[in-house]
Amino acid sequence: MRFLRVALFIAPLAVGVQIDRQGRETYDGYKVFRVVTDDEQLTGFEAQLGSLSAIELSRNRGHIDAHHFDIAVPPESLDAFEALNYEAETLTEDLGADIALEGELQPFPGLEKSTSGVAAAALPSFSWFSAYHPYADHLTFLKSLQAAFPSNSELITAGTSFEGRTIQGIHLWGSGGKGSKPAIYYHGNVHAREWISSITVEYITYQLINNYSNDTAIKAALDNYDFYILPIVNPDGFVYTQTTTRLVRYPSPPVLATCGGESLLRGVGTDINRNWPNGHWDGAGSSTSPGSETYRGEAPGDTPENTGIRIFGDKLGAGKGIKLYIDFHSYGQYILTPYGYSCSATAPNQSKQDTLARNTGAAIAAVHGTRFTTGQTCATLYATAGGSNDYFTDVTTAELAWAIELRDTGTYGFTLPANQIIPTGEETWAGQKYLWANF
Ligand SMILES: [Zn+2]
Repeated sequence: MRFLRVALFIAPLAVGVQIDRQGRETYDGYKVFRVVTDDEQLTGFEAQLGSLSAIELSRNRGHIDAHHFDIAVPPESLDAFEALNYEAETLTEDLGADIALEGELQPFPGLEKSTSGVAAAALPSFSWFSAYHPYADHLTFLKSLQAAFPSNSELITAGTSFEGRTIQGIHLWGSGGKGSKPAIYYHGNVHAREWISSITVEYITYQLINNYSNDTAIKAALDNYDFYILPIVNPDGFVYTQTTTRLVRYPSPPVLATCGGESLLRGVGTDINRNWPNGHWDGAGSSTSPGSETYRGEAPGDTPENTGIRIFGDKLGAGKGIKLYIDFHSYGQYILTPYGYSCSATAPNQSKQDTLARNTGAAIAAVHGTRFTTGQTCATLYATAGGSNDYFTDVTTAELAWAIELRDTGTYGFTLPANQIIPTGEETWAGQKYLWANF
């Protein structure tokens, strides 16, 4: 999740930007800082970021009147940034070196025999979770999962992206048959650079299938709920971060004309997660500027991606209802309950949601010690307008509607090393297992 008020990406690519052999920006020599500002410094700081061609990676409230920014500063702006003399901690000496730890994108690794024997066909090799992968291979992964669980799953689609890609996912069900139970609905990778979110959603999907016949708790979850899982709801952005510029959020659609000729390079457009028509679309917590990364769009719900996943979710709500909706993001390690639009408004079952979020955090921490902060979105992080969890709370009336910000807290940020995919999957899986058994 990102919390931007101003456009940081409208500047043309800085002079020092280097491109690798695959045509991707390298970020070599960028340093990442955590900067603290107070309310008075905020406006000036945001303006300075633009002039430095700095990339804002995340923001949170920190303290009630302080703002913590994680920013990546290009090498040619380092002297100018340091001359500004902000209170700042260095998180990363060389962002390019961090990105190298993500490893090369790897192709689909093939199938292997199921460890539990549940699958009719072999499951995708578990080594899938040892690397990040090109978009096309994610589609192969989904198809292979479905083929391994043919009587209890089907591939699903939820509309078409701005560039014409089908938003694809998978539906799993248990002994009651297809579509007979309330929904558990997961989204991943609405923000393009948050790669850990999609592969973690895939980890959950894999484990549901692999454990259905050998774990009574998993059998109960699948027998009691229909799972609708869309690992990559922003396929255009995901592809863009793999082929061109790793660290854009890449909203949709890009607004080249209104933001200047170079802006497309930075993926400016509507933030799909500030575009939900939840009754507070035009409130504080999004931007009216088409050049901003948190641009809300011209009208509520006017992006093709939002339309597709919204119609899909609305149908689930109008059908058997939605028990749980989670929008998976990174980074920061937060479990966020409603609301984003207001720091004082509460959902009808707020205390239940907050208790479950805390306990989910405890179940996650029990695996590898990873600590999640839990709480209401606005009060915990920042105001958000047009966000998905508010939509699913008020419009689709999901019983629980959360956003989860996965690992880490800034050491690697969006570019989490590939060797953290499995630990992230393990702890997230434990949190979800807790929820399914206790909500
Ligand atoms: Zn996000």
